[in-house]
Amino acid sequence: MSELLNPDHIDFAEICVGGQFRSGAGGTAPSIDPTDGTLVADYGVAGLDDVEEAVAMGRTALADPAWRDLKPHERARVLYRIGEAIEAHAEVISALQTRDTGKTLAETLALALSAAGTFRYVAATLESLDEDLTAPRGPWVTMSVHEPIGVVAAITPWNSPIASDAQKVAPALAGGNAVILKPAEWTPLISLFLARLAYLAGLPRGLLSVLPGPGRVIGDALVRHPQVRKVAFTGGTVTGRRIAQIAGTKLMPVSLELGGKSPTIVFPDADLDEAIAGVLYGVFSSTGQSCIAGTRLFVHESIREAFVSRLVERAKALRMGRGDAPGTQMAPMIAHAHRDKVAAMVDAAVAAGARLLCGGKVPLGEFAAGAWYPPTIIDNVANTDTICREEIFGPVLAVLSWSDEDDLVAKANDNEYGLACGIWTRDYKAAWRVARRIEAGTVWINTYKQFSSSTPFGGVKNSGLGREKGRHWIQSYMNQKAIYWGMSKDPIGWG
Ligand code: NAP
Repeated sequence: MSELLNPDHIDFAEICVGGQFRSGAGGTAPSIDPTDGTLVADYGVAGLDDVEEAVAMGRTALADPAWRDLKPHERARVLYRIGEAIEAHAEVISALQTRDTGKTLAETLALALSAAGTFRYVAATLESLDEDLTAPRGPWVTMSVHEPIGVVAAITPWNSPIASDAQKVAPALAGGNAVILKPAEWTPLISLFLARLAYLAGLPRGLLSVLPGPGRVIGDALVRHPQVRKVAFTGGTVTGRRIAQIAGTKLMPVSLELGGKSPTIVFPDADLDEAIAGVLYGVFSSTGQSCIAGTRLFVHESIREAFVSRLVERAKALRMGRGDAPGTQMAPMIAHAHRDKVAAMVDAAVAAGARLLCGGKVPLGEFAAGAWYPPTIIDNVANTDTICREEIFGPVLAVLSWSDEDDLVAKANDNEYGLACGIWTRDYKAAWRVARRIEAGTVWINTYKQFSSSTPFGGVKNSGLGREKGRHWIQSYMNQKAIYWGMSKDPIGWG
């Protein structure tokens, strides 16, 4: 490992403005380990002047023939190198991210490898993208070509750092753009690390800035900036809608990966061991801090009692512990404030009549100093209750049941969100019928929370707008241009 990439030697109080690592105009702020509330590092906070400078540096870099004139396969080479560098430093990234987020080492390693895979997939796609020669309907040669949009702002949440950063930075650079990344306040360290790594891997100066700072200040300034021509956002629906309104005024493209309240459906003929493991993984992995968490369980009435009692037993046995301890399944949540919000939502549901089947209490003893919350399962709730309507973003599962398929589909769809759905059954026809009727961007059948870079991902309804991943990923960061090339030997015949 290069000493320049040794987290113990990195000064995280430096922000990245177009490849210059220096202090930000907003001073510093603490990044806290949610395991025990201790300081991980003071990180640099950008100010509005830094936003101006990052945009200006991005524009200068875009005009430089050293980037502007690179052929796609040459840009791809830079992206491959970044992907390889991420993979080579995956364990360093994982350890740093576990300290910054409390997540398990297994999860942070998977996020680092996912980010490396994203850069490589995008590079490979870029190498093999074709432009269209369209069928002429007159005496011209007609083409449709793609060109960079310009300066892109990427605004990311705290729950999957580096993976969500890569999902925006890689396709934006592939499209020939400059990117300004605004990470979440709770998790800026890994984004600053990514910038160092990208420049060491050969990214030309000016093309990537990382500006930590409050979303309502730095994020808002980026969205409103007249020279920022696209915003790629992942985060909450309230923030996403605010960004979309500003984007609408600017007539700027925006992609929005937002919240979810996903149903998981268990049929009476499901393989119960597989379904129980899948439901637990779908809702409690990442300590429930996942947009796609399967938080509303619809289990068939005929198996409800047996299924739920085994599910609760297995949930109680999940291993809660430090993210860096071997075998941990339930690490702390991202921050004490977020844990307290989740606990308050559960308390309110219980006060309104919900029954706690397990969890639901902030743990004390060895867990008292950290932001822990146990796997929590509740029943005696209706699909229309607040706890079943609003995103909790914590390890909380609500049990509902069904007996009629039409009613099931109506209830599963009766929610403002439409991000994901899980179906557990051996009946392939039923799986197909329900999968096609569910209003969601992704449906998993007899599996859950699996991803492939080649399969487009995104939400419907209040879960978002646009898709990430897939063959058209890069073009979503480009403008399409039509070229008509006159071939007639006769003049247009006018004037
Ligand atoms: P958030 O509060 O919306 O914040 C997301 C990002 O937006 C952060 O970087 C935040 O900065 C910034 N931000 C806040 N206010 C802003 C503003 N007015 N203008 C511009 N940027 C602003 O969401 P979060 O709590 O970090 O993340 C959790 C949410 O993300 C959940 O709803 C989850 O479902 C969603 N999510 C969706 C997906 C998906 O793919 N669909 C994936 C992961 C997460 P600060 O940190 O400084 O506030």
